[in-house]
Amino acid sequence: MAFVYAALDTCASGVVITDARLSDNPIIYLNKAFEKMTGYSATEVIGRNCRFLQGKDRQQEGRSTLRAAMRLGREASVEIKNYTKDGRHFWNELHISPIRNKSGTITHFIGVQNDITARKDQEERVTMESMAAEREIARRAENLLISENYFKTIVETIGESMIVTDHHARIVNVNDSFLQTFKLTESEVLDKYLFDIATFSKLPVLREAISNLLVTEDRIKDLTIQHKFPYIGERTLKFNASRVQMEGLFKDRLLIVIDDITESKIFEKRKEDFLKMASHELKTPLTVIKGYIQLMSKMLVPSYQQMGNILDKSAGQVKRLEQLIDELLDVSKIDSGKLQVYNAIFNFDNMILEAVDRINNECAIPLVTVHGSTSIELDGDEVQLSQAFVNLLNNAIKFSPAHKPVEVNLANIKNHIKVSVKDHGIGIHVSDQEKIFERFYRASHTQEKFPGMGIGLYLTETVIKQHGGSIWVDSEPDQGATFSFILPLDTKQRSPYD
Ligand code: ADP
Repeated sequence: MAFVYAALDTCASGVVITDARLSDNPIIYLNKAFEKMTGYSATEVIGRNCRFLQGKDRQQEGRSTLRAAMRLGREASVEIKNYTKDGRHFWNELHISPIRNKSGTITHFIGVQNDITARKDQEERVTMESMAAEREIARRAENLLISENYFKTIVETIGESMIVTDHHARIVNVNDSFLQTFKLTESEVLDKYLFDIATFSKLPVLREAISNLLVTEDRIKDLTIQHKFPYIGERTLKFNASRVQMEGLFKDRLLIVIDDITESKIFEKRKEDFLKMASHELKTPLTVIKGYIQLMSKMLVPSYQQMGNILDKSAGQVKRLEQLIDELLDVSKIDSGKLQVYNAIFNFDNMILEAVDRINNECAIPLVTVHGSTSIELDGDEVQLSQAFVNLLNNAIKFSPAHKPVEVNLANIKNHIKVSVKDHGIGIHVSDQEKIFERFYRASHTQEKFPGMGIGLYLTETVIKQHGGSIWVDSEPDQGATFSFILPLDTKQRSPYD
């Protein structure tokens, strides 16, 4: 027997022998490989039932297989999770076979075991990973459904016409507005290549823009196309399009939004025509009245002083009316983007001094003084800048009822010109200070006492911004106001007004 045990000790597999004739089938032999595998020495194991190797992990399927095989006296192979002495689990590929005596009675069981932990752990990891992957797929599918529904709802709700295509420009969704605008049905467009649809087949500019969008991350922004479309005739359409990405799910979709701007274009054209007409119709009679007033002044007998005064006042009012018409027309031009800028080099200080002289001449006593200079030849629109500056001067005088002096300060600051107009008038409450640059806004305490339409500062700020500058006010009620603006000397910093 000793010879057999010695042979078993050389085995790489763990071998354990139990005595079935004794109570609780105790271990009576274990080889070296078993000791190595479990960390238990023979003295710690002999006499115990093998079940201790499963520690608390008693609910394993392999255990019932083993129990059944032992009860029936059969061989069995199981994969069972065992624990080493220091508590580490290891997977045991266990084969048990009964040993019978000559009369056929089972005397022993022999168990041969191999550590298959590496393989089992790998299998377990794969199972866990695939379960996690399945969960992730389910989550994504759910998200996709939510997002798809969400996306569909947006597309369907929005008033503009919308098309969603895949990355081959094949239409996957359109909204009702699109179908109604283009007089098409779903079956005529869904699943069709965008440019196979007659409506879009003759729009090479759009085709090029979309092809470009399919290979880049750019957007199509306000692409305006005027075209004679099937069913709906001559239309002006504005196209916006971009790739759609919602939580990384829709990056291969294109969303195309089409805005029918035919009516607004027509309206814009009418407005333009109206502006031309209005400036002519309103200003022509004024020019005539102005001429008559001048004529009357010349014809006036010098001794008829009182009439002279009346004519001067009439001329003043006509001039004021002319200014108001110009301001209103300027606002309309800004609205329609038609306020032209005519840049040229001019002497900035001269422009300021001339404007101040004009204003001083209109006052009974000169109120405006100029301090400092810029000595700059500026590249800009002299007429508009002068008008912007005059607006500030006029306000400074208008809102200083007691004929208080107004000071203009000129300075050069770090590649900029700075102009300040300081008055000692009624001042502006801090809550009004930002709003006064909005068009038609007038601080409430000035509404009734002072004439005006709330346009001057809006125009002034527009012109300053057009030249790349900025304007602000420092003021307190009853403490006067100082309006300041800066203009960059570098024309590159200038941008079209926004
Ligand atoms: P308007 O002078 O025709 O009302 P503006 O756009 O020039 O229009 O000015 C808007 C408002 O800003 C004025 O109504 C007034 O309340 C306030 N404001 C402008 N300049 C001054 C100033 N120098 N002092 C006090 N308030 C001013």
